[in-house]
Amino acid sequence: MKDTPKHQGLRNQLVEIVALKGIKSKKVLEALAKIPRHLFMDSALESHAYEDKAFPIASNQTISQPYTVAFQTELLQVKTNDKILEVGTGSGYQTAVLLELGAKVYTIERQNELFKIAKRFLPKLGYRPKYMSFGDGYIGLPEYAPFNGILVTAGAPFVPKALLTQLTIGGKLVIPVGEKVQIMTVYTRKGEKEFSKKEYGEFRFVPLLKDKE
Ligand code: SAH
Repeated sequence: MKDTPKHQGLRNQLVEIVALKGIKSKKVLEALAKIPRHLFMDSALESHAYEDKAFPIASNQTISQPYTVAFQTELLQVKTNDKILEVGTGSGYQTAVLLELGAKVYTIERQNELFKIAKRFLPKLGYRPKYMSFGDGYIGLPEYAPFNGILVTAGAPFVPKALLTQLTIGGKLVIPVGEKVQIMTVYTRKGEKEFSKKEYGEFRFVPLLKDKE
């Protein structure tokens, strides 16, 4: 659990790369500069932690590419104290980014192993989500809704209706939609039953799995 000036140097370089790729939000870049990504990964991969790439974590899943994390977070337009739901806790890295932005974070993970690791690990770094759920992201967290924003960090074959209904009016759902390749899509809730939709190019995620998969 060591974070050194060398790690900070590598982090600063990573932030420059992510900024060059088009991320403008200062707050998002500051969060990336602050979070010790190497501690969210297997120690065998430590020397790669500040490459702008996804890497394997437990349960056959991945820690998302920093650029992708930044891109999704920027689209969410998080304000301090916003209630945000993350689907796919994974390593907890994206969770930490949302917490750095001052959000109240609720997060769901369906792999018990990852859920347990993240639940133990995040508080060690001082990251305290409001609620961490071992559950199914297709259902969301109706008991804690509505959310100002919902961020899905796995590729969804379709948009789960439950997530749209758990947004506040004005709230945004950021979700990569598609089977093999996903289109980053943002739904904004305009009224009880009205949503606007905008698409932002192709990404590749591990799949958002249904209960029995
Ligand atoms: N935010 C994570 C990304 C992990 S990859 C990070 O940066 O580390 C996507 C995660 O979504 C995986 O951990 C996977 O187990 C989880 N996932 C897949 N299907 C899910 C579902 N139906 N509900 C909740 N989580 C799911």
